[in-house]
Amino acid sequence: MRHVLVIGAGPAGLAAALAASDAGASVTLLDAGDGLGGQYWRHLPPQRPSRRESRLHHGWAAFERLQGRIGRADAIEVLTEAQVWAIETADAVTAQVLLGPTDAAGREARALTADAIVLAPGAHDRTLPFPGWHLPGVFSAGAAQALAKGERIAVGRRAVVAGAGPFLLPVAQSLTAAGATVLGVFEAARPRALARGWLPKPWKLLGTAHKGRELAGYLAHHLAHRVPYRPGRAVVEARGDGRVEEVVIARLDADWAPVPGTERTLAADAVCVSHGFTPRLELPIAAGCEIGPDRFVRVDPDQRTSVEGVYAAGEITGIGGVDAALVEGRIAGHRAAGGDRSAMGSAPRRARAAAELTRRIEAAHGIRPGWTSWLRDDTVVCRCEEVPYGRLRAVAAATEQRSLRSVKLTTRAGLGICQARMCGRTVESLIGADPSSGADTSDRRPLAAPVRLGDLAGLPTAPDGA
Ligand SMILES: Cc1cc2nc3c(=O)[nH]c(=O)nc-3n(C[C@H](O)[C@H](O)[C@H](O)COP(=O)(O)OP(=O)(O)OC[C@H]3O[C@@H](n4cnc5c(N)ncnc54)[C@H](O)[C@@H]3O)c2cc1C
Repeated sequence: MRHVLVIGAGPAGLAAALAASDAGASVTLLDAGDGLGGQYWRHLPPQRPSRRESRLHHGWAAFERLQGRIGRADAIEVLTEAQVWAIETADAVTAQVLLGPTDAAGREARALTADAIVLAPGAHDRTLPFPGWHLPGVFSAGAAQALAKGERIAVGRRAVVAGAGPFLLPVAQSLTAAGATVLGVFEAARPRALARGWLPKPWKLLGTAHKGRELAGYLAHHLAHRVPYRPGRAVVEARGDGRVEEVVIARLDADWAPVPGTERTLAADAVCVSHGFTPRLELPIAAGCEIGPDRFVRVDPDQRTSVEGVYAAGEITGIGGVDAALVEGRIAGHRAAGGDRSAMGSAPRRARAAAELTRRIEAAHGIRPGWTSWLRDDTVVCRCEEVPYGRLRAVAAATEQRSLRSVKLTTRAGLGICQARMCGRTVESLIGADPSSGADTSDRRPLAAPVRLGDLAGLPTAPDGA
């Protein structure tokens, strides 16, 4: 019997595990979190259940079905609180895993190999910097969403949601459901860009028609809660004495440069910002998978990466939302288990429809270069190491360097605790780095998560001569 290891138990990983087991493989499904569901189905902890939880999620019935079937499948072993901290490729592709609560001492170390691996670690949200974004009260929209969905906590009482992309809509909904007043959703893309991205060839979106119903649900919710949606606008500054007290909103031109004279100020105690998502590439890079020029893992129609036996699904192959993650996971799991292509039913067609959504999101909401004009020299870019924009510019100019590595070592940008997850892509674009070679990229992290030195010291060592 083939053994398939699935890393990540979000929509992509859940679908992969089930498809692999359906195709006759034994499966190990693991996730660093303490439950299944990933970001989309991030739910309340079992200690604090809610009878109305299904109302907090889209597609909750689908999640319950997946979770139920996985729970009943004898051939699927589920490991939660299982952090893959490294991937090694010496003989076979091996996942180094620490089992136990995050940050706990003495976690159990395991090295897992399998006939095939499905990588489904998802993405984290991307936030462009602006003056004052380091103030308490400014959150990534993903963090605000995680707290609202996973803890029913609203990050503020008067919140502004800003950035770019359809993700802003569920964030605003979750915040109001958690008790906040949302003063507005400020989408950087202008109406013309939204129309250019979403309206042409509408028949190509027919395969994702249910997304229209989801959108209508958000709009109805926002109307009921009087949440205005303002395209072509951005938060260009957050101000306050020790924490956010007000934000400056400006109208943007087509390149996202603020239009002078359009600034207005809103009193707010929370700002939730997201300009899209960055795929978590450390595991695929460590496994040796080819990354495309669009900075996603390159896969073929079977979700096969460039490395034999390694498949990829979900947000690491493109930002297409839950449907893309589910269908890609299904294909990856089925093929990783050795399942026949002809037995995949409608999955390939649905994958193509989901890929269309990915393209539309980028076309309508993709980051435009003019945003850098809302930065000032003292705007912090790397929050961990407190590196301001002026310092990055000065170093890049003085050394005539476009090398990320050189700028990192000189300024320490990206070397702090988040290891460039927040600022890496921003620093790359500000210094004009060229990450296409793959060598000089902020996505390479040999340790995928912080590991205690004691845990490292406790790892079994290879026998002499091995
Ligand atoms: C913070 C956040 C909140 C989101 N909320 C929504 C929302 O409310 N609505 C919406 O439409 N879309 C939301 N999205 C987008 C959403 O992530 C996708 O549409 C969908 O969940 C992608 O599925 P996935 O399986 O690819 O990844 P995910 O759902 O992100 O699942 C990936 C899983 O992999 C695990 N993992 C990652 N690295 C490791 C590792 N090294 N070791 C072990 N496990 C690992 C993670 O713990 C996670 O559970 C959110 C995204 C983020 C980043």
